[in-house]
Amino acid sequence: MKWTKTHIFTLKEAPSDAEIPSHKLLVRAGFIKKLAPGLYTYGALALKAIRKFENILREELNKEDAIEVLMPVVHPKELWEETNRWGEMGAGLLKFKNRNNHEFCLAATHEEAVVDYVRHELKSYRDFPKNIYQIQTKYRDEIRPRFGLMRGREFSMKDAYSFDIDQEGALKTYDKMYKAYQRIFDRLGLQYRIVQADAGNIGGSQTHEFQLLADAGEDALLVSDKTQFAANIEVCPAIDPVPYVSPHTSELPVEKFATPGAKTIADLEKLTGIPAKELVKTLYFSANEGLDPKDKSLKAFAVLLRGSDEVNPIKVKNLLKMTNPPLMLTDEEVKEVTGANPGSCGPVGLQIPIYADNGVQPLKNYIVGANEDGFHLKNVNHGRDFQITQVADLRMAREGDKCPESDGRLKPYRGIEVGHVFYLGQKYAKKMNGVFLDKNGKSQFYEMGCYGIGVTRTVQACIEQSHDQDGIIWPKAITPYHVHICHLDPKDESATAYVDVLTKEIETRNWEVLVDDRDERPGFKFKDADLLGFPVRIVVGKKGLEGNQIEVVNRKTKEVFKLPKEAVVQKVFELLGN
Ligand code: ATP
Ligand code: MG
Repeated sequence: MKWTKTHIFTLKEAPSDAEIPSHKLLVRAGFIKKLAPGLYTYGALALKAIRKFENILREELNKEDAIEVLMPVVHPKELWEETNRWGEMGAGLLKFKNRNNHEFCLAATHEEAVVDYVRHELKSYRDFPKNIYQIQTKYRDEIRPRFGLMRGREFSMKDAYSFDIDQEGALKTYDKMYKAYQRIFDRLGLQYRIVQADAGNIGGSQTHEFQLLADAGEDALLVSDKTQFAANIEVCPAIDPVPYVSPHTSELPVEKFATPGAKTIADLEKLTGIPAKELVKTLYFSANEGLDPKDKSLKAFAVLLRGSDEVNPIKVKNLLKMTNPPLMLTDEEVKEVTGANPGSCGPVGLQIPIYADNGVQPLKNYIVGANEDGFHLKNVNHGRDFQITQVADLRMAREGDKCPESDGRLKPYRGIEVGHVFYLGQKYAKKMNGVFLDKNGKSQFYEMGCYGIGVTRTVQACIEQSHDQDGIIWPKAITPYHVHICHLDPKDESATAYVDVLTKEIETRNWEVLVDDRDERPGFKFKDADLLGFPVRIVVGKKGLEGNQIEVVNRKTKEVFKLPKEAVVQKVFELLGN
C-alpha cells in the first residue's frame, strides 16, 4: 500500500484529553479519531489491526467448536424485562423509542438475545453442548468514557455464550474457553494475569478476569508474592498479616463522653490517642435496589469496620445478594435512622441490621458514636451492648495483607481488563425458560457460561504495553503492516522501481508493506515511521542505491543494518521470523 493512496494523518501533539500513552499514540498516529466522547472512528490502519485480532479470536474459538453468529444491536424492552435487567442495568443501558412508541435499548451485552436465539431450538439433551459467539458493537453509556478505546461508549466486543446440560459440562466448557483465552493473549505477546473477579451485573458464581498489567489500568489487583494467587481488589479476601489480639481481658462499663468537633476517625484518633485500627467506624447503606430507592421506604443497614479500614461495597453487595453495590445513606437519611449526624453515629440502640467486618470481631472495649451529636461511647462491646447480624469479610484488601493460599503477602498492581469468563449456571435459563428434555424425558434448565473480550480495548492495551518515547511498537500478530518503506526519492524512477520490486518480494511471504511515497523530508518520514510502529523499516533513497547500501531498522530494538540490495529481503524475513 502506498501512503498517498490511503488516508493516514499524523499529529505532532496529542490532544489534551489523551491522558495515557496508548491513547496519545493512537490519536497522534491517526489510527483513531474522536467523533464525540466515547465514540471513535477507526481509521484504515486501526481497522487492519482490529481485523487481525478478530481473526485470531476466530481461529482460537473455532478450535473449541464455537459457532459464529451476529445478533442485533437494537433490542426490544420486553426481552430485557424477562431478566429484570431493563431496570437493573441502570443508566448504562441506552434506551429510546421508535416512531411507534415502542421502547428499545442498544445492547450492552447479549445474554438475553442469545437465549432468545436458541431457546426454541435447543430442545433435547442431544442438541448440547453449544457455544455461540459474535464479534460486534456494544454500547454502554459509560459515565466517564476515557482513555480512547479503553473505555468507550461504543466499542467492539467478542462475546461467546455456552449451553450445557449440566454443571459438569458447563465447567468443562469454562475450562476450554479459559485455555482459549490464554492462547489468544499469548499470541499477542501480552503480559497478563488471570485474576479472581466479581460477576457484576452479569451474575454467576465462578469468574476470572484476564488483566494486562499496566500502570494506566483502571483495575486494582492484588497478587501474591509466593503463589499464583491474583485477585481483583473488588473480591480479594482481606486477611490481616498478624491477627489482632485485644489487650483487654474483661468488658468494662460503657461510658458516654463529649467529643465536640470530632467528626472523623482522624479527629477521634487525635482526641483520644487511640490508633485508628482500634477505633470502630459505622457506615450506613440502603438495601433498596432500583433506580429510585426513595420510591420505597428506606431499608437501611449498618456496616462496622476498624477505623483504619475501607469498606468494600462489592463484598457488601455479595453478602446481601444484592444486584448492585449498595448506596450510602445521605446525611439526612443517617439522621433519620440514628437520630444524629454522621460523625457521632454508632451501632448501639439501632433497629437495623448490623454487619461487621472480621477485623471488628476481636476488638473489645472500643469507642463508637453515641447517636447523639457531639458524643461518643467508650468501652462498647458487641454481644453485650448491641448485636451483630453477621460478621464477614467486608473490608478492602490492601498491600501487605496475607495471601489467602500461603504465608506470602499481597502486592498491588494496576490492570486493564481485556477479557472476562463467567460461569452463569441456570440464572438466565430460569428467567427465560431455557429448558430441554433430558435422557429420561424430564424437562431441565440448561447451564450457561459467557465469555467476553474487548476487541478494541485489547488492541489499545497492546500499545499501552508496547511503545517507547517515539511511538508504537506493534506486536507482529496484529500490526497493520509489517514493513514500512521510507521511500526518500519518490520522483526518481529507478528508486521507485526498486521499491516496487522489494515490496513484491516481501509480499511473497504474505508480509504486508506500507510505502511512504510522500514528498517529505527524510527526518519527517523517519519520525512518522517510528510513530506508526511497524516491526521493520527499510530506507530507500537514490544515494543509498548508488552506494548499494540500504538501511533496514528493527523498530523494537532500533538496531540498524546497512546492507547491499541483495541481502535486504533476507534480513527482513529474518527480522519477521520467517
Ligand atoms: P469494566 O469493568 O472495565 O467496565 P466490565 O467488567 O463491565 O468492564 P464485561 O461486561 O466483562 O466488562 O465485558 C467484557 C469485556 O468488554 C471486558 O473485559 C472489556 O475488555 C470490554 N469492555 C467492557 N466495557 C468496555 C468499554 N466501555 N470500552 C471498551 N471495552 C470495554
Ligand atoms: Mg468484566
